[in-house]
Amino acid sequence: MSFKGSYAGVGTVSFRDMLLKEQILRAIGEAGFEHPSEVQQNAIPFAMVGQDMIIQAKSGMGKTAVFVIATLQQIEPDTDDPSIDTLVLCHTREMAYQVHREFERLGKYIPDVKTGVVYGGVNVAEQKKALTENMPHILVGTPGRVLHFAKDRVIKLNRLKRLVLDECDDMLQTRGMRIQIQEIFKMTPTEKQVMMCSATIGDSARSVCRQISRNAEEIFIDDKKLTLHGLQQHYVEMDEKEKIKKLNDLLDGLDFNQVMVFVKSKERAAALDKVLQQAFFPSISIHSGLKQEERLERYRKFKEYESRVLVSTNLCGRGVDMERVNIVINFDLPKHPDQYLHRVGRAGRFGTKGLAVSFVSGDEDKERLKAIQDRFEVKVTPLPSNIKASSYKN
Ligand code: AMP
Repeated sequence: MSFKGSYAGVGTVSFRDMLLKEQILRAIGEAGFEHPSEVQQNAIPFAMVGQDMIIQAKSGMGKTAVFVIATLQQIEPDTDDPSIDTLVLCHTREMAYQVHREFERLGKYIPDVKTGVVYGGVNVAEQKKALTENMPHILVGTPGRVLHFAKDRVIKLNRLKRLVLDECDDMLQTRGMRIQIQEIFKMTPTEKQVMMCSATIGDSARSVCRQISRNAEEIFIDDKKLTLHGLQQHYVEMDEKEKIKKLNDLLDGLDFNQVMVFVKSKERAAALDKVLQQAFFPSISIHSGLKQEERLERYRKFKEYESRVLVSTNLCGRGVDMERVNIVINFDLPKHPDQYLHRVGRAGRFGTKGLAVSFVSGDEDKERLKAIQDRFEVKVTPLPSNIKASSYKN
């Protein structure tokens, strides 16, 4: 097992040194990736030769590109055989959409390789038709919908060469999803590459990961060092009833590109979004109470900078990559310290500067803040009244 504790910086190994296909190098160049991040330097050389992988790496450090590049490097599409070569399972529909886009971006010069995406909440018949007419080699999807198509024999998994579990600890901890993944797993051949990754991998998820992979190369960052460089973390203590006013003041006073505001329930997300819109903030909300099309449309709007404040539940709390977000506000503190890390990791992606402000109201929140500081050995300090924009904005 390798412990990789230091921050990803400019390394000695380049993408070219990895002897990747010319088409991939070209797409990497166009995506603006100059140097591989630390996790990429450590993981790609193993993953691209078919090694099973368990990868725990900080949020925003390019884990997705590890399995995307490793897959594109190895895949040899059989144009006559309509079976899935690589299956990537994601814990939310938004993540499936995002991962699919990364495959399209980095695979754009390998036109023979077809990528598809399926997820719940949208019409099954339409997805089925699309799959049957144009079977992808790489399928990205959420477990429920993938299982549905596998059981219905719309997709064949009997010749699968690679299985990827993204944000695996979350999927394996959610009982329903774990069962679905196990069922999918049983339909795949024994001989295949398994790659699993997440920003946090707890002990129980880790042992499940070990059971479903063979001799995996494990790349772990020391948990204590999971905090993000370039990210300032502060808190403000207040009564529950003062939260909206405080949020207003912060949004007025801080210099943000984009902000994500996290709340504890879908009702609160919808209500707070409304309040912000009434105050003329360019706000939008995403939560599980919305229809799938609407969810993705809002996600796209925020990603494309059409709105600048996103109010969300934990749904967008992990993995989701919004490169312009420089401020995260925990309007409600999350229950679990790991969720805190995932949420604040939405700012300061790929080593950029960012600011996280958590609202602390009542004794329970104080306990939660303490648990977060203990878990990550991070000092979350009171928000100073004057904070220079240059310290949280690139
Ligand atoms: P991830 O941790 O996979 O969510 O990736 C975070 C962001 O970093 C995404 O926008 C990636 O496109 C971007 N990224 C991944 N690898 C690199 C790299 N080597 N250089 C610059 N950006 C990267």
